[in-house]
Amino acid sequence: MRAKRSKKYRKIMQSYQLAFGFREPYQVLLDSNFLRTAHAFHMPLQKYLENTLHGECRLFVTKCSLAKVMADFEKDPNKHPRQKRPGFLPPPTEVPLRHCKHKNEAGEEVVFDEARCLLDLLAGQPHGNEQAKNKQHYILASADAEDNERRRRGYIDVRERARTISGVPIVYVKRSVMILEEFSGASEGVRRRGEKEKFSEGLIGLDRKRKRGDREGDSEDEDLALEDGNTGPKVRGAVRAKGPNPLSVRKKKVKTTQDGQQDGKEGEQAKRKRRRRGKNTGESVQADGAAAVD
Ligand SMILES: [Zn+2]
Repeated sequence: MRAKRSKKYRKIMQSYQLAFGFREPYQVLLDSNFLRTAHAFHMPLQKYLENTLHGECRLFVTKCSLAKVMADFEKDPNKHPRQKRPGFLPPPTEVPLRHCKHKNEAGEEVVFDEARCLLDLLAGQPHGNEQAKNKQHYILASADAEDNERRRRGYIDVRERARTISGVPIVYVKRSVMILEEFSGASEGVRRRGEKEKFSEGLIGLDRKRKRGDREGDSEDEDLALEDGNTGPKVRGAVRAKGPNPLSVRKKKVKTTQDGQQDGKEGEQAKRKRRRRGKNTGESVQADGAAAVD
């Protein structure tokens, strides 16, 4: 991987750690398209994913993904009669099964459509009006489906849908390159809200936060302003107004400035002296050395 891209991916994963609590080893759900494409381009899965995600990874396929792979394989007219499984499907020792326990209305375990299964795991089964979020900290590894699959009725683009769930890192294989997507709109929104909360807790205190909570939802502009740093001076002003007697503050400030200047001068002189001494010593050592050689 090129250094620039690698650095970018490390930053993205650091952001997932900070904003969504991702931790190593990362749990990566591989879909059938990913397995097929990675195999076609001879990519060692574990190594490539760990390089891309900058961390230890545990790879999984869901029960429904496996069912899809095996169903397609059974239908494949080109398969060798004695072949038990497709070449692109890694053994369970490499990529174990993730039991997804999908049940129908009668409570029986059933196989879901692969994309629906993955999205269900990624969304963490939200209750009622709860927003879908990736509670289990899964990472999705996907690739473009084959054309006939895309044309199938009821086809779901799992990558596109996964972007609507906040906190889902998405890896996908495009030709021979493994790519880590940048934050989706949903993830970015949650991250910004989180940052804003930390910011207000740290600088403005709890009173302000409570007020802010009351008028949630009207703060898109404020978000942008915070990111640009435009509200910086305003916020500092608010803090100063709440602070101690301004007279005492001013007194302190004058004192520290003087001290600082003195310190600065002394420091500078000392440094200059030291530097000079260092230089002399160096020269004398050289001279000595030369003398010793002679
Ligand atoms: Zn499933």
